Amino acid sequence: MAEIKIADAPQGLEGEGFFATKIGDVIGLARANSVWPLPFATSCCGIEFMGTMSSNYDMARFGMERLSFSPRQADLLMVMGTISKKMGPILRQVYEQMAEPKWVIAVGACASSGGIFDSYSVLQGIDKVIPVDVYVPGCPPRPEQIIDGVMRIQDLVKEESLRRRYTQEYKTLLESYNIK
Ligand code: SF4
Repeated sequence: MAEIKIADAPQGLEGEGFFATKIGDVIGLARANSVWPLPFATSCCGIEFMGTMSSNYDMARFGMERLSFSPRQADLLMVMGTISKKMGPILRQVYEQMAEPKWVIAVGACASSGGIFDSYSVLQGIDKVIPVDVYVPGCPPRPEQIIDGVMRIQDLVKEESLRRRYTQEYKTLLESYNIK
């Protein structure tokens, strides 16, 4: 029978009949293992994502099998594929419609930097229109790389202070994108 792996408990004080830890660590643990991704897939990297979701790689292991195609019920925007300049405002609108806290992965060379399409019509990286937390290299990245990107997001989610979204640093970041 396959061994069932349970997420590590946060650090804390343990004694007979009690365990005390920080509320932020418990929330971080819960959030990191129940991320709801919104796949924004426009081309070939999206096909690689389909492989990542299927049985061989099985994103359900990360508590992530529930994809959301509504921005209001998603907290991880996964952008996969070539994003044209015309598509930029739409991507930004999707990002703005997501509730806080939210995270973004740029999957593949196109989403990260425009990839091989150094042309007048292609956005040279989605960070021109929205902030990005993790970049996954590759053209296309293999499912293992996409999973690695998701795990780096989990690291950020676990560690993130509950107050980060109220900090001046975060507000300044959004202001730099003219996002309110
Ligand atoms: S990075 Fe490569 S595989 Fe991914 S969308 Fe661009 S051209 Fe396609």
